[in-house]
Amino acid sequence: MSFHSKLPRVGTTIFTVMSQMAKDFQAINLSQGFPGFGADPHLLELVAKYTQDGFNQYAPMAGIPELRDVLAVKTQRCYGYLPDPDEEVSIVSGATEAIFCAITAVAQPGDEVILLEPAYDSYEPAVLLAGASPIHVSLKPGDFSIDWEQVRHAVNFRTKAIVINTPHNPSGYVWTEEDLKHLSALVRDRDIYVISDEVYEHIAFDGRSHLSLAGQEELRGKSFVCGSFGKTFHVTGWKIGFCIAPKELMREFRKVHQFVTFSTVTPIQYALAEYLQNPSHYESVSDFYEKKRDFFCDGLKHTGLDYEPAQGSFFQMAYFGHLSNISDRELAKRMTQELKVACIPVSAFYHDHQDPKYIRFCFAKEENELADALDKLQNLSKIL
Ligand code: PMP
Ligand code: GLN
Repeated sequence: MSFHSKLPRVGTTIFTVMSQMAKDFQAINLSQGFPGFGADPHLLELVAKYTQDGFNQYAPMAGIPELRDVLAVKTQRCYGYLPDPDEEVSIVSGATEAIFCAITAVAQPGDEVILLEPAYDSYEPAVLLAGASPIHVSLKPGDFSIDWEQVRHAVNFRTKAIVINTPHNPSGYVWTEEDLKHLSALVRDRDIYVISDEVYEHIAFDGRSHLSLAGQEELRGKSFVCGSFGKTFHVTGWKIGFCIAPKELMREFRKVHQFVTFSTVTPIQYALAEYLQNPSHYESVSDFYEKKRDFFCDGLKHTGLDYEPAQGSFFQMAYFGHLSNISDRELAKRMTQELKVACIPVSAFYHDHQDPKYIRFCFAKEENELADALDKLQNLSKIL
């Protein structure tokens, strides 16, 4: 029987490939984005408490009210808008699910969805599975800011949605007020929805503030704001996230969510509902990661790689085009196998695998691990 794949161009994700290679070659894994340190013991105790106290059956489909309530309050505190916790907030199994449900809810065959590249790898498959067409627009090489002229060119009567991501993976670019104005003008008077991937909302540096679409009066009426507790609290393996959207959109979102996972892990929802009562738990995250970024960038100075310090996220990009002509995949392979430091080749974030000669490091690691990796990277010229 011949099988007609719905995702013929999709293979194993680069994150899985590079993490496996790091393991096989006993390399320091700065590839896949996950923290190399534990979560706050208090949060872990809360999870233990709620599992032991018997909170282990299905949660309500939209998430437990306690967590939706505290998330709504947090949204008001951070972005000045109080969403209705009953109708505008849902808890889901990771931002990946939020993004998938949002795209599935709005995109239909014949529609186009604009993706800004380099783009996180889950967006395009979600668009394709909905039967819609991804339209790729490149961010500006260098600072990876948005080329609004190009975005405007990409819009036509078939455009159903645009996926945005700030702070950005992999570049760390953080959206400005100016970007928001361009986006507002783009979707004004058009039926274009915005899927806003804000998983690094609490990781922005050098005094920058994350500008959530939840805080934008005009934009939030058309937006699905997608977030991840895994990123904010160093527990990526818990796969728990959320979506905030106006009630008409949330109604459609939940129709999809209830048949993708139906509901999300119960005791962790109770633990997070209690933990989120204290704003310092999320307000301290930017400073925590800024120190790591500074430490990592200081070390990069001695490697020959070129870089602009990341504005946000826990990733640092580095340019190697002035050092060698080899492909980024070849460099990532040699770095992992010979230098014993794994990174991500940025071509993996482009649908056509174009190679602007950047690699991405995850600096969400203990300082001694970063220091070891930076030592090894000083020998970079030996493998080029
Ligand atoms: N979007 C971006 C930009 C990410 O980096 C990640 C992290 N894996 C996700 C979405 C998915 O988040 P989650 O693990 O909560 O599904
Ligand atoms: N978001 C993480 C990264 O960009 C990886 C998540 C995953 O492995 N799917 O590295």
